[in-house]
Amino acid sequence: MGIPVRIHYTLWFVFLLIAWSLAYGYMPREYPGLDVATYWEIGIVSAIILFASILIHELSHSYIAKKNGLPIARITLFFFGGVSEMTEEPHDPGLEVRMALAGPLMSFLIAGVFGAFWCVGELARAPIAATATLRYGALINAVLGAFNLLPAFPVDGGRLLRGSIWMRTKNLVRATMMATRVSEILSLVMIGGGLVIVVFGDFIDGIWTVFLGWFIRSGAETSMRQTLVGEALSGVTVEDIMTRDALTVPPDITVQQLVSDYFLVHRHGGYPVVKDEQILGIITLQCVRSIPKEKRELTTVREAMVPCERTVMVRPTLSALNALHIMARENVGRVLVVEESRLLGIVTRGDLMRTIRTKQQLEA
Ligand SMILES: [Zn+2]
Repeated sequence: MGIPVRIHYTLWFVFLLIAWSLAYGYMPREYPGLDVATYWEIGIVSAIILFASILIHELSHSYIAKKNGLPIARITLFFFGGVSEMTEEPHDPGLEVRMALAGPLMSFLIAGVFGAFWCVGELARAPIAATATLRYGALINAVLGAFNLLPAFPVDGGRLLRGSIWMRTKNLVRATMMATRVSEILSLVMIGGGLVIVVFGDFIDGIWTVFLGWFIRSGAETSMRQTLVGEALSGVTVEDIMTRDALTVPPDITVQQLVSDYFLVHRHGGYPVVKDEQILGIITLQCVRSIPKEKRELTTVREAMVPCERTVMVRPTLSALNALHIMARENVGRVLVVEESRLLGIVTRGDLMRTIRTKQQLEA
């Protein structure tokens, strides 16, 4: 589907942990009397099935997103499972609901397929190693589907809940607030319940429940923040908030001159480097910092700057929200606004933050 899949290094630990706990805990308990090598085989194959299932679950979200024109930057598999990184949020509640449902439905479908093979395997008296693995595939996918239907951010059920409230109220912010509240209540119940289990029941189960509760709590906060930022910046373009007639720097002065004539005089943290109307790059405080003090008299701005191939340039019609995403992705604090290779202005992360804050204060 043209979506890059990334494996975060934490996944390998979890992979080993899961294979190990299946080989030493779960499988010997369910199917006693096999030898160690067989338990390890079952454990490793089952762990592969688990992560493949998670990937297919994520791909089904991405498939619906792509089909409806929402770009997916990448899928990352990590410690807690998988996440599809969207660069845009769905624009209508129907799409959000369909996208959220696709994952859990796919998990239940995979569970059904494994379940069917397991039944056939049992009837045909297949080796225990095979039936044990098939049964695990069915169980784990059913659990995956059910867990993701919890009505809480950041799992699919949270989006499902928000999408359905959004559909009814036609108000995204209100829907997010209500879904966030439900998530918070659920996370408190899980954290509280987990602590009770720690004291009166199984320690590991309890810690696990507390951990999931905390995971849901932080996911809910992130969703709320993202929605508020998106709302504050909706309809705002880069052109609306950019600094026009930005102060530019010639490429041939020394870094020392740049410091004394620009950085110490004006309040900006970076300047476009321009000669004869042509953009050569951008020079920031960070560039200056990387030049040792004694070399600043000898180094020119042209040598110290970020050249234009690596300078982030955007069109004036770009939405401010997308500019924010680009800055985060490229890890830069400012972008140049350019039209037909002519410099129109500059937008910094600070400009965006100010706009968000002002809009939020006006709303409140
Ligand atoms: Zn999902």
